[in-house]
Amino acid sequence: KNILVILGFSSIIAVIALIAVGMTQNKPLPENVKYGIVLDAGSSHTSLYIYKWPAEKENDTGVVHQIEECKVKGPGISKYINKSNEIDTYLTECMERSKKVIPSSQHQETPVYLGATAGMRLLRMESEQSAERVLDAVSRSLSNYPFDFQGARIITGQEEGAYGWITINYLLGKFTQTFSWLSFVSHDNYGDETYGALDLGGASTQITFVPLNYSMESPENSLQFRLYGKDYLVYTHSFLCYGKDQALWQKLAKDIQVSSNGILRDPCFHPGYEKVVNVSELYKTPCTKRFEKTLPFDKLQIQGTGDYQKCKESILDLFNTSYCPYSQCAFNGIFLPPLQGSFGAFSAFYFVMDFLNLTSEKVSSQEKMTEIMANFCSRPWEEIRTSFAEVKEKYLSEYCFSGVYILSLLLQGYHFSNDSWEQIHFMGKIQGSNAGWTLGYMLNLTNMIPAEQPSSARLPHS
Ligand code: AMP
Repeated sequence: KNILVILGFSSIIAVIALIAVGMTQNKPLPENVKYGIVLDAGSSHTSLYIYKWPAEKENDTGVVHQIEECKVKGPGISKYINKSNEIDTYLTECMERSKKVIPSSQHQETPVYLGATAGMRLLRMESEQSAERVLDAVSRSLSNYPFDFQGARIITGQEEGAYGWITINYLLGKFTQTFSWLSFVSHDNYGDETYGALDLGGASTQITFVPLNYSMESPENSLQFRLYGKDYLVYTHSFLCYGKDQALWQKLAKDIQVSSNGILRDPCFHPGYEKVVNVSELYKTPCTKRFEKTLPFDKLQIQGTGDYQKCKESILDLFNTSYCPYSQCAFNGIFLPPLQGSFGAFSAFYFVMDFLNLTSEKVSSQEKMTEIMANFCSRPWEEIRTSFAEVKEKYLSEYCFSGVYILSLLLQGYHFSNDSWEQIHFMGKIQGSNAGWTLGYMLNLTNMIPAEQPSSARLPHS
């Protein structure tokens, strides 16, 4: 009787089990996913990115994607030297957002990285102690969350260039191993050629690409790595003080040298635009040191005149092309090999050119771009302000300068020509993920970019 009861009981269990199996066949199994968080502590702002990928596929290329971007309210972290006690509040909103977006069961194994860029490189040049203090406050704050905090550090300009290049090529699928008979027979890599990366921040700008027939003229600009079974010899340079905000400070410091009354009629701002700048603030950044001069006034008044040609001439003074110790240079004696292939231009390159409607491949002739810029800069400030009332005034007032600066940097600084300009693709996001250094940084630090499969390699990092 007992056996019969057990048999009856076990058949009920078997039926329940069968129903359960049937149910799970229709329902997806729980996802086996991982998450990672990277904070980009830029010169003007901090952004937090959350990435997600299937755990069992982490060494495949193209599987990591961004699921969240949270912009931290307030300025860049370098502005917190004398108020490091406010850093907790500064980071709260985006970190709390991360706690909501990432399931709590995953918090403990989710790495968090913070990388600071040129704003903090400049602060470190002014005072190593101040930079340390800010980074310590940031680290203390980030350790208070349930995630796996991996450290806050200032990344080098080389890393910023390299990781930006890795990010865009990863997202564009350029590291995927595809075999084509055409490339096998002709020995070329057409189609899987990588994109160069052009990144413009507030304090620095990076150019990174794989040159043709590269000769190692300048070892500090060379990076060598093996990714997914292929060797890459990459050229990179980060121009400190040539991000768009620091370039503007440089230009103002240069132009004010010849003013006797503190009034600066500035062709890079719209007619009717006026702004007062403290001379002490202008001279605070290491980027204006070369133009520093004792002046008989302590305030500078900018009055816009909106003249594209004069603005361009004034900007070109910032690029010293009078000496070059290599076969060829960009500017300021920095080696630059001949440009090669397609380029992705992102961050402020994209924000500015997108606003000015200059991202389309149709607007590629220099004449057309000049016409659009000249027309934009000459429009009265009041008219611009009312036409674009929804745009932040700080950005809006500087689009004329920024647009002329970008054209000058790319055409005269890097020597893009009418033809090679068509190879520049302005991009904000690629398949939903922001173009920038953060994804490449995380891929490297979590060992997700193998040299060969399955073994892995890391880029050097201190
Ligand atoms: P960073 O903070 O160093 O990453 O630099 C970002 C740069 O992009 C700064 O010069 C910002 O002023 C600028 N920026 C950010 N968003 C916009 C936007 N929507 N339009 C124009 N410039 C922007």
